Amino acid sequence: MAVSKTGTVLIAGGAIIGSFIAYFLKKQGFAGEITVVESDPTYARSSTALSAASIRTQFGCPVNVHMSLFGAELFRNIKDEFGTDADIGFVEKGYLIIGPDGAQAERLAGVAMQNGEGASIVALTPAKARERFSWLNVDDIGIATFGLKNEGWFDAWSLLQLVRKAAIQAGVTYRQGQVDTIDVRGGRASGMRLVTGESLAADWCINAAGPKAAHVVRDLVPGLPVEPRKRTVFSIKAPLDAADFPMLFDASGAWIRPEGQGFICGIAPPEQNDPDATGDFEPAYDLLEDVVWPALAQRVPALEQLRLERSWAGHYEINTLDHNAVIGPHDEIPNLLFANGFSGHGVMHAPAAGRAIAEQILTGAYQSLDLTPLGYGRIRSGTPLHETVVY
Ligand SMILES: Cc1cc2nc3c(=O)[nH]c(=O)nc-3n(C[C@H](O)[C@H](O)[C@H](O)COP(=O)(O)OP(=O)(O)OC[C@H]3O[C@@H](n4cnc5c(N)ncnc54)[C@H](O)[C@@H]3O)c2cc1C
Repeated sequence: MAVSKTGTVLIAGGAIIGSFIAYFLKKQGFAGEITVVESDPTYARSSTALSAASIRTQFGCPVNVHMSLFGAELFRNIKDEFGTDADIGFVEKGYLIIGPDGAQAERLAGVAMQNGEGASIVALTPAKARERFSWLNVDDIGIATFGLKNEGWFDAWSLLQLVRKAAIQAGVTYRQGQVDTIDVRGGRASGMRLVTGESLAADWCINAAGPKAAHVVRDLVPGLPVEPRKRTVFSIKAPLDAADFPMLFDASGAWIRPEGQGFICGIAPPEQNDPDATGDFEPAYDLLEDVVWPALAQRVPALEQLRLERSWAGHYEINTLDHNAVIGPHDEIPNLLFANGFSGHGVMHAPAAGRAIAEQILTGAYQSLDLTPLGYGRIRSGTPLHETVVY
């Protein structure tokens, strides 16, 4: 594949993924022009701004563990990356993931794999889990797994502002515009066409359009199996000490973590009730009363009493083939690159994805972390790489 330190790069989408790509391109020495085309510079409906901004290393695929480890390292050392004033409020308090009775063997195998890849996860019996987390009801659980390091949460908005500002300072241009399509001529991407009809020429085109990524490349065969799926976040107050509370994922799928003076919580709806959510940002209010609250009160009895403060809904960019990102060049159009379908892991994986795309453009290969397993080739061949730890 052609490699380049100069030329013109166009990036469709300028939230966390597009901005980390632009940032790492400049950081790694790309001397050409980089333009990020962003349809909504307020980012009001971007997944990044609406996300729960948490990071875990408890994944089923080793490549995801490694992407998270790189993200955690960067978040921990945010001042080294972006200067002494940089602050994203990274709190490393771990994910506590509950498994039902019968899940022990599978969870222990998962922990062994994760730790083998460099994560720091402990498996807890119900009694040990109760000893460590006195507020936890362990009567009906089989196992709990807990991240001692590299897991927690942060402020995604602050992170986006830092990366974007650093990219701009390094010479990246952000412009408002909505990409309609990517033009392909003679087996190469020649540029992007905006909905206004304006054409922008490029040597490299990168799709970082989040939940709308499939639309931008809708003429490709096969298309990108990435769909927007609604996820509602409830901000609550509860009579519970947040000081030593982790990100808790119950076996029911309900989750809760501290945020400010209270907590945020939610749940992924069952797959049969999780349609394409294009244009729908209305919180699913019923979910709290009907599903999330009963599940959380069963797990944490103090949550019998809670008060809803506010709620919002954003879009996961689900890769319907396998719940994993699609990263890297198109197999037949080498100067068209994807950074899409993160399926709810995109903020934590943005640093690793940004660095990887920059390496592809600058050297034609992955240098730091091999993301080949996440390539577009599996979309063409219909060969999924299933991520099994899905929330
Ligand atoms: C409720 C919720 C909770 C989440 N929790 C977590 C979490 O805890 N941890 C985690 O890692 N991830 C989480 N995610 C997922 C995470 O937010 C996304 O994976 C990540 O933000 C993806 O970043 P992105 O830049 O690709 O997409 P986005 O942030 O959506 O950005 C895409 C950008 O592209 C722009 N755009 C779209 N189409 C076009 C076009 N045609 N032309 C120009 N611009 C365009 C959009 O305006 C947008 O700004 C969560 C998501 C939601 C909704």
